[in-house]
Amino acid sequence: MADSDNDYLVQSPDPQHPANLIPELCAKFWHLGWVTGTGGGTSIRDDDLVYLAPSGVSKELVKPADIFVLELSKQVNQKERIYLRKPPVLKPSQCTPLFIAAFTKRNAGCCIHTHSQWAVLITLLLERQRANTKVFEINNIEQIKGFARGFGKEGNLGYHDTLRIPVIENTPFEEDLTDSLEKAMEEFPDTCAVLVRRHGIYVWGDTVHKAKTQCESLDYLFQLAVEMHKLSLPWLSNII
Ligand SMILES: [Zn+2]
Repeated sequence: MADSDNDYLVQSPDPQHPANLIPELCAKFWHLGWVTGTGGGTSIRDDDLVYLAPSGVSKELVKPADIFVLELSKQVNQKERIYLRKPPVLKPSQCTPLFIAAFTKRNAGCCIHTHSQWAVLITLLLERQRANTKVFEINNIEQIKGFARGFGKEGNLGYHDTLRIPVIENTPFEEDLTDSLEKAMEEFPDTCAVLVRRHGIYVWGDTVHKAKTQCESLDYLFQLAVEMHKLSLPWLSNII
């Protein structure tokens, strides 16, 4: 069985290897409260190989041996996912089709899914404040400079630019979010993230570093925006 399990794909002394990075990132995100109670996840793409954290495992306890691996170019049927490596006792993540959308539609190198309370609160505020508002917008905050300008574009956003993150409605089963996530990517081609109402957020980037820093910057902005709202301060302002 050992050979057919392709264990070599997740065994490397290199700390930057995806099979080593995913457990480290999951543990970090667990400590931030982003992936509590087995929710959320992280996936890394290395060329055609996609590495995925499993479902149903406490994210601070994920090990390299728990990582699923698949070939992106071989995934022709979404209902019949073909894995190059599959741990025998674990289930693949329900986030898998959403991570794959970030890799195929946006050429991302890493995608992170969190159940951050700040992200959920933003979707609740948008739901209550402005009915049918499907986008979070903020400008004139220094942290906005941490975001890539957009898909296929060079450089980062500037201080005065408006950061826009679309919101999609939640579904009882995570994989059923895929169509609306892909639609939001088409409507907002420059976004690096999609908020899911009453659920959390998906954030991606060209590299692990970019996905992680954008995820951190978004969480900072969401927390700030919740506090701004409490003080009746607007998220958009006309400072020039
Ligand atoms: Zn989720």
